[in-house]
Amino acid sequence: LVSRENTTKRSVVRVAGVPIGGDHMTVIAGPCAVETPEQTLEAALMARRAGASLLRGGAYKPRTSPYAFQGLGEAGLKILADVRDETGLPIVTEVVDAGDVELVASYADMLQIGTRNMQNFALLQAAGEAGRPVLLKRGMSATIEEWLMAAEYIAQRGNLDIVLCERGIRTFEKATRNTLDISAVPVAQALSHLPVVVDPSHSGGKRDLVLPLSRAAVAVGADGIIVDVHPSPETALCDGPQALTGSDLDELAHLAATLPTLV
Ligand code: PEP
Repeated sequence: LVSRENTTKRSVVRVAGVPIGGDHMTVIAGPCAVETPEQTLEAALMARRAGASLLRGGAYKPRTSPYAFQGLGEAGLKILADVRDETGLPIVTEVVDAGDVELVASYADMLQIGTRNMQNFALLQAAGEAGRPVLLKRGMSATIEEWLMAAEYIAQRGNLDIVLCERGIRTFEKATRNTLDISAVPVAQALSHLPVVVDPSHSGGKRDLVLPLSRAAVAVGADGIIVDVHPSPETALCDGPQALTGSDLDELAHLAATLPTLV
């Protein structure tokens, strides 16, 4: 269903009217985690200023440590919905449990399935039935074929509005959080008709790498980028070191403005 074998056309996925794929390069930006109404609104305004047309933000955070901030749950979804009303930016947010899909879908414009859940098949199937587009991140140790098969689980349930997201893979390299597999973008685009976006924040794990990796995503022909921004990264409850802020945002806005296909 997601293969290019039976179609020459590449898909465009619309998230509350915002296209991902086709001639567009879509910027999705926002805080890694929803923390407070003020922080989320401020991050959303920053995202919009930087050229984003969709707002990201996690209310359910799948953290490596059980002692780390796990997200605000439904209270976070409500904050996101309020910020959408205020800014007009549709929401992309993660769901980590099949049992929560209906609830998250009642607030979200797009469901995100994170790297740790790429092969959570019950979750994929529930997302396939939720009536919302799905952003499917690549498992950090998954092959491209496994990633496409995960997308197939969603598609099989009748939902072809799927966007693939390359977010870095595990390698021996320790200088970055994960290794951005930039070659996965054209490979996945050749094998599948689905749009492919890049997450330069979770792959590099460092603020200084986000702009260079974003440029790499543009150069390789990605259909979009998904970027963490935060009004005060030093106090962020999740992944502050990779969040863009201040003048970095101007650079992202500059990148967005200078590329004719970047919306
Ligand atoms: C995220 O985007 O908030 C996230 C947790 O990403 P990943 O699943 O790629 O680690």
